[in-house]
Amino acid sequence: MRKTAVILAAGMFFAAILAAASLPALAASPGQQPAKKLKVFISVDMEGISGVINWDETEITGPDYSLFRRLMTLEANAAIAGALDAGATDIVVRDGHDSARNILPDLLRPEAQLIREWNGPLSMMEGLDRTFDAVVFIGYHARAGTPDAVLKHTMSLQIYDLILNGVRLPEAGWNAAIAGYFDVPVVFLSGDAAIVKQAKEILGEIETVAVKEGLGKAAKMLAPAKSQELIQRGVASALKNLKAFKPYKPSPPYKLEVVFTDENLAKRASWVPGIVRTGERSVGYTSNDFMDVIKYFRLVRL
Ligand SMILES: [Zn+2]
Repeated sequence: MRKTAVILAAGMFFAAILAAASLPALAASPGQQPAKKLKVFISVDMEGISGVINWDETEITGPDYSLFRRLMTLEANAAIAGALDAGATDIVVRDGHDSARNILPDLLRPEAQLIREWNGPLSMMEGLDRTFDAVVFIGYHARAGTPDAVLKHTMSLQIYDLILNGVRLPEAGWNAAIAGYFDVPVVFLSGDAAIVKQAKEILGEIETVAVKEGLGKAAKMLAPAKSQELIQRGVASALKNLKAFKPYKPSPPYKLEVVFTDENLAKRASWVPGIVRTGERSVGYTSNDFMDVIKYFRLVRL
């Protein structure tokens, strides 16, 4: 059987060469360019998804979690659709919330690959490397302490501030710096109005969609279907205009300061060699290698 299959395959191979030789129209015409690659990385959080307002909607034990993880998946799908509209050839979706097992694999568009579970120091950017052309953030939220922001926090509820080279960063800023390490620009962000404002302050005029606006603990929201429509359009527009965006690259030496909500967490973090206590609730780390900074932050935020 196997031998027959090989002979058949060889026969088909030569037949294909003969067919190609006799059909000049199939050969590339002079001046024709090979299809251009466009590789897109989509990092998806949950607090900034349209409709989400309370922590229990984002937790696996919450009674309405199944609805909101579905809406999270549909917003990821809207970003995928936008990327495809712009000619994306390769799309990776990173589930970046809580367990990293929220997006429904069976509902996700088949043109994308999905990264689930936690692994290394890149965290919400796990899977990104220099081969990507653009990064998209979906479902993002403002940094801890931001007024009128939905479910604001910075990586965990134990961190009050994350300051890189003097700039107070939301998760979008930190993740943009990781993308910058790989020379990949962030081109689009969706989330609440507060993170849209913070992202623009740090990253410049990226494309954005505010799917809700915080009113203290409450929020005024777009309907999920409307948010999805705007996300698809915004992602497509950003990717078609890729040259307008630059990677976010703070200059070395990289000085990271982490301010915790509890002084005991700062004390514990200061046990890591190279990390210094900078205040009652804060520690600092400085390096000329940003990958070192990424790894140290992953260590101290546990
Ligand atoms: Zn989250």
